[in-house]
Amino acid sequence: MTPVLGLSVLVLSGCGQDGGAAADAPPATASGSVALAPSHGGLSGGNLVLADTGGDTKDPVTARFGEAEVECTWDERSSRHACTAPAHQSPGTVEVSFSAGGAEVGEKTSYTYTTPGTQDVPLLRVDTETVRSNAEAIRADYPMGLQLGAVLKNGEPVGVFGKVIEEAADVDYVFVPKLEDAISLREAGVEAKIAVLYAAEVEDIPLLVHYDVEVPATDPAWVEAAEQVLATTGGTLRTHVWVDTGMGREGVVPEEALPLARAVEDAEHLELAGIATHFSTITAEDGAAIERNDTANTTVAQKNRFDEAVASIRDAGLGENALIHAGASDVLAEEIEPLYYDLLRVGGMFFASSPPETRLYSWTTELTQVKTLPEGWCIDYGCTEPTTAPQRVGIVNHIPSRENELTYTVGGKQVPVLLDHGTVVTLDLSEVPEAAAGDEVQIDFSAEAFHLLDATAPVPVTTTNG
Ligand SMILES: *Cc1c(COP(=O)(O)O)cnc(C)c1O
Repeated sequence: MTPVLGLSVLVLSGCGQDGGAAADAPPATASGSVALAPSHGGLSGGNLVLADTGGDTKDPVTARFGEAEVECTWDERSSRHACTAPAHQSPGTVEVSFSAGGAEVGEKTSYTYTTPGTQDVPLLRVDTETVRSNAEAIRADYPMGLQLGAVLKNGEPVGVFGKVIEEAADVDYVFVPKLEDAISLREAGVEAKIAVLYAAEVEDIPLLVHYDVEVPATDPAWVEAAEQVLATTGGTLRTHVWVDTGMGREGVVPEEALPLARAVEDAEHLELAGIATHFSTITAEDGAAIERNDTANTTVAQKNRFDEAVASIRDAGLGENALIHAGASDVLAEEIEPLYYDLLRVGGMFFASSPPETRLYSWTTELTQVKTLPEGWCIDYGCTEPTTAPQRVGIVNHIPSRENELTYTVGGKQVPVLLDHGTVVTLDLSEVPEAAAGDEVQIDFSAEAFHLLDATAPVPVTTTNG
């Protein structure tokens, strides 16, 4: 990981206080060394990369990005060689070298490929080895005979995570929020069953059939529309009936489960592959509450509604082979066996880490500016809390908001946020008076949630191992 972190310093050098001036006066580099602007970009390539090869030729040069070669021509405006980044298979850092007429030009450098996030947002680096060891540990402790489903909704790179988890935990299923994720998994070579969790568009059915992806059946009208398309594509679409047993989210209310299951079973090209629900209030006491059938307990209430819905379907002679699945990481962690059914959908557990022993990700940026605000200075619109004394602050930029608040650490100390406008975030540096522009800022998701990863868009993500 160390050389990659070194690179991120290189990525951000020149983004300091002097702003625009940095563009025409790049950081001083030893003669013969290479600087790329930018030094990272999305996997699909196609973006302009200006290269200071350190050589003295204005003739075209050939650039090698990993295995891919591109021709770069001299750009008068920037006095750099202009290359178009080639596409690349998976996130990670590749070596870049230049040649002209078969002879090397300048020194080797590197370029980092990321998932298609917004490239101005600080790069997040995930350590897939932590995910691998989590997956091995989950498999080692997993109940015998129970199928294992991995839920991948912590963000990119879904294909990389899916492949690592399938290899390390031999999962039966991978569940994802959206079709795009399912496609990434198949493209990455995942062979397990794949199911989309929440909804599927009828217009996507040919893709679902092509990539062998299972989806929820939303309602009888959806089933009818799906059947019409499937009659033209052929093949069978495996669907799951989701029952909302008391969370107010995905699925039909319990009384509608049987009519929906019947619609699926009646449709020639649809199959009832699963019946599912999701629990909203799992606690350590639920096992005992289930034993007492304590209906005041919300998990017990959800379980009873689910069991009745499943029974109504089975009593009608439907869904004999349907997989019954309901529990997530919390059910496994609390070992609430009556909620195991046929399969558990485990998400968060794969992405847990406890720094500093294990770190799943590294998300860092730099202080772009440091200053001392005078006493009585307004902070944010409205001036509700002006400073009561001179106040040391630091600025960071382009930090997208997350579901859970982010924390910022400077010089080993977590620092408060004074103002968060996303594109500009002002940090309180009172506790780290020695901090200066250019110092590293560590960004973390939520210490309470085991530093759970949330690499959802628009964060551009790469791997330290890819
Ligand atoms: C998120 C989610 C899971 C996985 O939950 P974790 O707590 O991350 O294990 C399972 N099922 C559904 C429907 C989900 O939305």
